[in-house]
Amino acid sequence: MTERNTYQDRKGTKVEPYRIKVVEPIPVTTREQREQALRRVHYNLFGLRADEVTVDLLTDSGTGALSAAQWAAGFAGDESYAGSRSFHRFRDVVRDLTSYPCVLPVHQGRAAERILFSSLLAPGQITLGNTHFDTTRANVELIGCRAVDLPCAEARDLDSDERFKGNIDLRRLEEALRGPDARRIGLVVMTLTSNGGAGQPVSMDNLARAAALCRGHGVPLFLDAARFAENAWLVTRHEAAYRDMSPRQVAERAFRLADGCLMSAKKDGIAHIGGFLGLRDPALAERCELLLIATEGFPTYGGLAGRDLEMVAQGLVEVTDPRYLRSRAETARHLARLVRDAGVDIVEPPGLHALYLNAGRLLPHIAAHRFPGHALACQLYLEGGIRSVELGSLYLGEEDENGEPVTAAPCELVRLALPRRTYGLSHLNHVGETLAAVAKARERIPGYRLVERPALLRHFRCKLEPVPWTGP
Ligand SMILES: *Cc1c(COP(=O)(O)O)cnc(C)c1O
Repeated sequence: MTERNTYQDRKGTKVEPYRIKVVEPIPVTTREQREQALRRVHYNLFGLRADEVTVDLLTDSGTGALSAAQWAAGFAGDESYAGSRSFHRFRDVVRDLTSYPCVLPVHQGRAAERILFSSLLAPGQITLGNTHFDTTRANVELIGCRAVDLPCAEARDLDSDERFKGNIDLRRLEEALRGPDARRIGLVVMTLTSNGGAGQPVSMDNLARAAALCRGHGVPLFLDAARFAENAWLVTRHEAAYRDMSPRQVAERAFRLADGCLMSAKKDGIAHIGGFLGLRDPALAERCELLLIATEGFPTYGGLAGRDLEMVAQGLVEVTDPRYLRSRAETARHLARLVRDAGVDIVEPPGLHALYLNAGRLLPHIAAHRFPGHALACQLYLEGGIRSVELGSLYLGEEDENGEPVTAAPCELVRLALPRRTYGLSHLNHVGETLAAVAKARERIPGYRLVERPALLRHFRCKLEPVPWTGP
């Protein structure tokens, strides 16, 4: 078969391109146990023990299944403090993929963010992006700068099947780069795919135009490349000029449009831990390296074990395999069909790393400050032992001391994240059946009230209690 056939043939068989070599038993619990568990953790799913969860769709970060080749590479890891053989393999793989000569390993993506922003930005500066991921924004703000999102207008319509809703708004980008605050713009970051924007991809056309604007105005452009392979896959499917390219070729082009990248290898590195900072500018790399040594580790390990470097290097090679990406897209589409059949709307079109359920629309009887997304997430756990995460007013909204609404999130969503190579179709069928049962009895689902709210990042640590609905 030619390479073209392996990733272009739409009629290809729909089996996963791997089989199971190692198994991990998953817990099966009774409804009573789940009720007790939820009460014990004050209705905050982050408080559950993993042993209380049957299908864990909380995140796709660090939860993927390693391949036999990754485990084997891990065994061959070189744990030397300086000059490790594993670092050299890691650096070669990253250079080959990205073209960036300077490669700094870090323990995970947010360390790359902190090191890059501390080395490149001064307090009072601005960063622009399609949508900053939450840790990216936090690291920008921690050094006294402001992160401004410029998502394209299409991103606002959750139901349209527009293909590249992760794009940046080029007109607003250009206005900002020419505007009165232009001198304060420190960098532009394009997140592929847009995790803050329901996993929607960025087109190569949009990326190339953004890159040209940045170059024209002398502003460095970085990729937040956590899901670069998934973005590349969607480009080969939906952007005409890239139909005949492999995902790997698209990914290589994307990296070559930017001045560097921030990478969380817990996503498209298919590793449990790891990340890196890739840079073109050796002077900037030298400044970053000083911080790396002070806070992560010597530059040939950067907070990782030699075995981690090996596993990430091998994962970066495997992740652009068209058969793997096709299967991942197929998995997401399968779950999307089950969700729609259950009468639940998702943010369209489904991406690869997660589905986003429209809980606000499913549960119109629950007001934003009674957290419809959280209510749906709790019900999925009660009904089927499934853990998901709310992305709505519990995550983004604000209330006053009496629990009265101040601001609500723009929409009330629940994310079902899909760990890589971890769950099979029967697990997803269980999710579909559970959701169908939940949707059928939707009028009886209670809202929630906050009983304890930490000042920062409250969704992780807050306590809640159900508020049964008593009629209009
Ligand atoms: C996960 C993620 C990060 C942060 O990476 P960690 O490895 O979790 O520190 C940054 N950006 C995006 C888009 C992510 O998805």
